[in-house]
Amino acid sequence: MKAVVIENDGAVVYKDIPQPDVRPGTVRIKVAVCGICGSDVPRVFDHTAHSYPIVLGHEFAGVIETVGEGVQGLTVGEHVTAAPLVPCHACAQCRRGNYSLCEGYSFIGSREQGAMAEYVTVPAGNVVKIGESIPFEQAATIEPATVALHGLRLARFGAGRSAAVLGCGIIGLYAVQWAKLLGASVVAAIGRGESGLAAARAAGADAAISTIGCPEGELPAGLDKAGYDYVLECSGAGQTMALALQAVAKKGTVCYVGTPKRPMTFPVRLWENINRKECWVTGAWMSYSAPFPGEEWTMAAEHMATGGLKLVPGMVHKTYPMAEAARAFEDIRNGASGRCLLKNEEI
Ligand SMILES: [Zn+2]
Ligand SMILES: [Zn+2]
Repeated sequence: MKAVVIENDGAVVYKDIPQPDVRPGTVRIKVAVCGICGSDVPRVFDHTAHSYPIVLGHEFAGVIETVGEGVQGLTVGEHVTAAPLVPCHACAQCRRGNYSLCEGYSFIGSREQGAMAEYVTVPAGNVVKIGESIPFEQAATIEPATVALHGLRLARFGAGRSAAVLGCGIIGLYAVQWAKLLGASVVAAIGRGESGLAAARAAGADAAISTIGCPEGELPAGLDKAGYDYVLECSGAGQTMALALQAVAKKGTVCYVGTPKRPMTFPVRLWENINRKECWVTGAWMSYSAPFPGEEWTMAAEHMATGGLKLVPGMVHKTYPMAEAARAFEDIRNGASGRCLLKNEEI
């Protein structure tokens, strides 16, 4: 089969490799669309791949092509996506249902062969049915949608309260939609570029606020000075990491979903927000809960099927043929493209 193989740092080669085996308890999926995640870019250019050669790709959708021995409830031809985390299901965290914190996991598309290929094999328990009404392009973005929902769940989000989402990338844009779906009284989205803010409005944000020109330590104009009950930081940029503590209401909750890109310092006045507001601060990692892979996944598939969760313009910038993956990675690296998808021709 054809696959996008990262042979070495920066060496992206579209070539023939053997099809992955279908072991008992697994299914082989014919990949229709696979996304390039922000986390894949350093895996290609910054020596962070787990090993070489490797086939990346953990955000994907396609059709079941072969069902392995002992697999029940899945049939050839069904439209599916799959959760990429392969937890051990045996460690203390797995036994508590905290699969994201597993101490002995594998991961499709970083520790084992991913979906930037014609076929990928996954454990049957990782498969999520998507139904035929969801376009593959959208189904391939289900993972970031589950990450956003996981953050809101960890923040113990409750209906009727206000929310601020910091960062208008795909996770932030899905977080805006989830907050509305889950009954937020008001959702403010905070971002930088006009395209992200326009996407946030299309995603249903009541206000879309830019941080451009806002002096450090101050609140951007348009943000409610009383603060927001839930603040979801989905960018990892220093400015929004800090702003999260300023934007939270007294007794509110901040959930850090984004991961920081460089070291940060918290001046005393900024840190004191945690004390003076008696706010809760938590973090989120990936998107799993019991029973595996969790409600994050089943709810995302349901809401995509009903149209509650939308792939709004601006969430994905470009779709490339799988064979042109090298160009896609290069375009992302030099800023010519944002988040993009790779598509196999035949499906
Ligand atoms: Zn990802
Ligand atoms: Zn485990």
